[in-house]
Amino acid sequence: MKSKVQPLVDGFGRKIDYVRLSVTDRCNLRCRYCMAEDMVFLPRRDLLTLEELADLSRHLVRRGVRRIRVTGGEPLVRRGILDLFRNLGALIGHGLDEVTLTTNGTELPKLAGDLAAAGVARVNVSLDTLDAARFAQITRRGELDTVLRGIAAAAAAGLKVKLNMVAMKGVNDHEFAEMAAWCAARGHDLSIIETMPLGEVEGERSDTYLPVAAARDALEARFDLVPSTHRTGGPSRYFELGQTGSRVGFISPLSNNFCAACNRIRIAATGTVYGCLGHDQKVELRDVMREGGEDALNAALDRLLAGKPERHEFDIARAEPAVARHMSVTGG
Ligand code: SAM
Ligand code: SF4
Repeated sequence: MKSKVQPLVDGFGRKIDYVRLSVTDRCNLRCRYCMAEDMVFLPRRDLLTLEELADLSRHLVRRGVRRIRVTGGEPLVRRGILDLFRNLGALIGHGLDEVTLTTNGTELPKLAGDLAAAGVARVNVSLDTLDAARFAQITRRGELDTVLRGIAAAAAAGLKVKLNMVAMKGVNDHEFAEMAAWCAARGHDLSIIETMPLGEVEGERSDTYLPVAAARDALEARFDLVPSTHRTGGPSRYFELGQTGSRVGFISPLSNNFCAACNRIRIAATGTVYGCLGHDQKVELRDVMREGGEDALNAALDRLLAGKPERHEFDIARAEPAVARHMSVTGG
């Protein structure tokens, strides 16, 4: 007999209708704020199969999840990933409102058309600079031109593009206005994000940490910033640029906590599901899915929700990262 379907609600009464699904912790880049140079990746045998990721997604949609963002690591480097997008796309209109993607953009020249055909309507592309040398320096191995071609391919395929830019003092803090103008000229939104202390990297993140208020000040020197009511279900607070009509969002996990409105859980590629980006609280779903059946899966999800932390406690000045795992494991 099937168990009664209950919506996902945590111990603080927050409804969870948004899932970040990491499909791999691997990546073809090594952004300095995200990864160490020598990353040890999870063994492939520990990952959920693409079919299991689709099954889990279907289950979560039955429990009220309305949006799934596929992320990683770099989701588009996982072999066969389009099959997952096609399976998720088939859920749109059947409980799911949208499937989105966060990507570094390097595979978009090849895959943008297929993603759009699978039902993806919006992509977030991470791009911290428009300077080719700086891009190579930040990502340790990326080529700016490939990402720019990827963004163009996404737009040509009809995908709505938003750029994610991590604000870094002394690295890209003179580029906010230029990036905003570049995005505005192409009809893309922009989000500017604070560096978070997740996993060990070379160097101190506190050396380059910049509160997003500094980025806002820089933009205000060139544009009129009009507060916008636009929301995408995430923590971005948006402004419209008076001169261009385009939108810029600011994500301030450190300088302005937004956890009270948290609506999400995060699933790692192994089937470990985390209640919070900044805590180790988790349950393991892989063996439950393989051996326990639907009731056991529901019980595991309910256990996670009962213990979901109220908020993260990020402190950039602390010597240790808030958690040992990198953003690329939890799914950024
Ligand atoms: N590889 C894809 C990408 O770069 O968009 C998806 C995964 S990446 C972990 C998701 C987002 O997390 C990116 O926008 C990246 O800039 C951001 N990110 C990674 N590590 C971060 C950190 N320590 N603090 C803030 N943002 C971070
Ligand atoms: Fe890879 Fe994205 Fe992390 Fe950069 S931010 S290393 S692209 S996972």
